[in-house]
Amino acid sequence: MRDVNFTKLARKRGIVTRLGMNCAAATCPICGGPNECQLATTDAYKGPCWCAGETFTDALLASVPEEARRIHCICPRCVITARRLEMKARPLPRAEAGDFYIEGGRVVFTAQYHQRRGYCCGNGCRHCPFTAMEFEMAVMEQRGKP
Ligand SMILES: [Zn+2]
Repeated sequence: MRDVNFTKLARKRGIVTRLGMNCAAATCPICGGPNECQLATTDAYKGPCWCAGETFTDALLASVPEEARRIHCICPRCVITARRLEMKARPLPRAEAGDFYIEGGRVVFTAQYHQRRGYCCGNGCRHCPFTAMEFEMAVMEQRGKP
């Protein structure tokens, strides 16, 4: 089991709660970065947390250390990384009707196809349904940076 002092980590990273105190719960239990949890930030409530529309893979949830469960939220980068790893290990889905159209002799994939594939390729596709953060991560991956 990993021995991580989350309170120390949060203090070091300057993560502060709405009470103006360093908050260990605002750190990701996997990478130690800020988890951008709606409830752990100084932001006034502006709608549901980013995690509300996310899918957490079983492998990702299993990687959270026991002592951090139900206390620390996973950050968006770790959620994206886990989903990308899982989806990239699968064969590419076959393109079906509605997945693409031809324009000027080129194949243009629709958002529907990208969503079934499950990850951003980082090529700046016209109908990319993924977030700016995921696109940025895909571009970095292409360039061989972690
Ligand atoms: Zn993380």
